[in-house]
Amino acid sequence: MSEHKAIATPTRTREILDRYHFAFKKSLGQNFLIDVNILQNIIDVAGISKETNVIEIGPGIGALTEQLAIAANKVVAFEIDGRLVPILEHTLQSYSNIDIINQDILKSNVRELWNKAFADDKEVKIVANLPYYITTPILMHLLMENLPISSITVMIQKEVAERMAAKHSTKEYGSLTIAIQYYTKASVEMVVPKTVFMPQPRVDSAVLHLEMRKEPPVYVENEPFFFDFVQACFQQRRKTLRNNLSRYLKDKLQRQEIENVLEAAEIDGSRRGESLNIQEFADLANRFYLELSNS
Ligand code: SAM
Repeated sequence: MSEHKAIATPTRTREILDRYHFAFKKSLGQNFLIDVNILQNIIDVAGISKETNVIEIGPGIGALTEQLAIAANKVVAFEIDGRLVPILEHTLQSYSNIDIINQDILKSNVRELWNKAFADDKEVKIVANLPYYITTPILMHLLMENLPISSITVMIQKEVAERMAAKHSTKEYGSLTIAIQYYTKASVEMVVPKTVFMPQPRVDSAVLHLEMRKEPPVYVENEPFFFDFVQACFQQRRKTLRNNLSRYLKDKLQRQEIENVLEAAEIDGSRRGESLNIQEFADLANRFYLELSNS
């Protein structure tokens, strides 16, 4: 903890906002953290030490960035809102291990910045209190960039965290769960009350921890097809696999051909997508991919 008062307190946050006449932009998901204990918990879950470099998305006025700078070796933070840059320069002036990059994370090429940002070979983790309006696009963007990171720890909307870490045969389980499971091992680490934010969001929040896998847990013939296929199996949740697949493949395969593939995979077409585990999805997607490639 630094010797001066942390940014993440209601009084210090209010003071900073007033001083810069800062008006929150709802459209950018600006809900700042005002509780140091929660930040400490996030840092503990992420497992940050002086041997870790961190990428943060959306530093805001620096509440989490400050605690990360204290705990980590180096922090590189991407902030889309240019109005926050001079504020961050002021609030974080006593830390020399922070780079602020005024960029939209969705348009940034983190890989390209990597060597310049991290001169050493310490492990890199992503930690953030994400803007809720684009949680899924941000996480998918980061996962698909295939960055050499070891984990992602993020505060996000509770319902989304539960969907990402869901078990099969639950109502939260869906194509998002499969995409996250393909790249990571996901766990919801804690549920966080609205009262630790300024302004308070309308939804509940949770801290999600994603431990990156070295290899996907299943073999997939073609990744874009696999993700598309899984999405199709959940297109109408209450419908059977048979129905969802008939719709999805209607211009490409006959009903009987679809039945044959299901049979060969030993998967009952009257099951619903939510009952299939990732292994079953991979097996089925691979069989359909090969069938389509040969037809
Ligand atoms: N980290 C701060 C905290 O915990 O108090 C602020 C978190 S706030 C929920 C989300 C932050 O992400 C805001 O500062 C917002 O301006 C920023 N942001 C929104 N969209 C972004 C994007 N596409 N790229 C980078 N930053 C973004």
